Amino acid sequence: GSGKLVDIFKKEFIKHGLEEEIDLILTGCFGLCELGPIVIVYPEGAFYSRVEEKDIPELVEEHLVKGRVLKRLVYHESMDDDKVRSLNEVDFFKKQKRIALKNCGVINPECIDEYLAFDGYKALEKVLLSMTPDEVINEIMDSGLRGRGGAGFPTALKWKFTKNALGDEKYVVCNADEGDPGAFMDRSLLEGDPHALIEAMTIAGYTVGSNQGYVYVRAEYPIAVKRLAIAINQAREYGLLGQNIFGTDFSFDLDIRLGAGAFVCGEETALLNSIEGKRGEPRPRPPFPANKGLFGKPTLLNNVETYANIPEIINKGAEWFKSIGTEKSKGTKVFALGGKINNTGLLEIPMGTTLREIIFEIGGGIPNGKKFKAAQTGGPSGGCIPVGHLDTPIDYDSLMEIGSMMGSGGLIVMDEDNCMVDVARFFLDFTVEESCGKCPPCRIGTKRMLEILERITQGKGEEGDIEKLEELAASIKDSALCGLGQTAPNPILSTLRYFRDEYEAHIRDKK
Ligand code: SF4
Repeated sequence: GSGKLVDIFKKEFIKHGLEEEIDLILTGCFGLCELGPIVIVYPEGAFYSRVEEKDIPELVEEHLVKGRVLKRLVYHESMDDDKVRSLNEVDFFKKQKRIALKNCGVINPECIDEYLAFDGYKALEKVLLSMTPDEVINEIMDSGLRGRGGAGFPTALKWKFTKNALGDEKYVVCNADEGDPGAFMDRSLLEGDPHALIEAMTIAGYTVGSNQGYVYVRAEYPIAVKRLAIAINQAREYGLLGQNIFGTDFSFDLDIRLGAGAFVCGEETALLNSIEGKRGEPRPRPPFPANKGLFGKPTLLNNVETYANIPEIINKGAEWFKSIGTEKSKGTKVFALGGKINNTGLLEIPMGTTLREIIFEIGGGIPNGKKFKAAQTGGPSGGCIPVGHLDTPIDYDSLMEIGSMMGSGGLIVMDEDNCMVDVARFFLDFTVEESCGKCPPCRIGTKRMLEILERITQGKGEEGDIEKLEELAASIKDSALCGLGQTAPNPILSTLRYFRDEYEAHIRDKK
């Protein structure tokens, strides 16, 4: 609803003769979706939440004309708290560390000058004028950055493999085909800071020896697509994309390719097929995209969040980056927090933050005094984390150990009212719907699993159903062609691990 407020602000500014004095900046998402529309007035940084059209005349009159913070609207942590807080003092933001999201909610994403004012394109300049491709790879290797799209593969290794691959033509691709239920990290990054992606992909182009990049983004993200297109055009106008960037002999350009909403196109080889105009089906690997990717050429593929970390690593150095996080998972992770939680929104936390801190401090706990039951990370490929693991530090390896996975960053919270068998059924239903159908274990096996889950949740389960689920899960994991199928049984396996009694109760009590 923020867009609607802009015109009213403008009218009020004119009414009070303030239109020359005050800049009205429409930013990307601040992250605290629950409290939107949000208005922040600087220099005080006063944080106004849930602003409605009818509030604006009073807000302008009080704060901008009379210089008094409008206490009625400014965000309070509780009813008896009247402290005026700036953004960083709000509980939701206090424990966050914003690297990928640093400009989201701060700059106007449609204005390249604002990105430049926040050190934008400095990393690209540094790389092009003073670093060799190997030095860039070593810096990223040293930082410990791992892929934020799900599996956590070391980013620098992908860059190195693509650089070392033989080929006269190479490509740099960004996977922005975010499709997990409840995930909106990539969308917010593209809507809030599209130039960071352009800068990072250009750095990647120089490093691996590519002159052409593609951003594969969901067509269902019209604002992200529009802002990215504006940003690409601005970068071209400023000579930051195109020929002889920063006066060097390096040239690079970017194009957008729209995905039509198939979840499987987030799988990297299916995504490449889709860019080539073919049916979005995964290809067998090897060969890996680093050797034979887009149009059969060596291709570097990372997701939006991975790229968004690159300019900061180049600007501030690997030492700074690896001082954040845990031993094997460096830096931060962006999560989309949803489900039964008070503060729905987008957050970025240092790796190693516990789930308890995310849910009860940043997320503000469970609504209506209900008890926390579990959180699902990794979407349909991930698993649930029960109350007994609330103090597990969030990093790639700890989550794998407890049967979940980092995934791209969807984090859905369940309370005591959620049936965990139903949660597993929901995710499997999604996978069955989205399976491309190319290989039988996924096309047929997940359907059989869903039938069993449906009859269990309808009170028609039979003795031996749980064992059948486990048997099918094991064979699908072993034999499906791509990650979508291989990870499809995870929500069932993890709910069986922690909530087997709920499956047994459904079967025993026939309800
Ligand atoms: Fe398609 Fe599923 Fe096989 Fe992947 S595992 S190729 S999504 S049928």
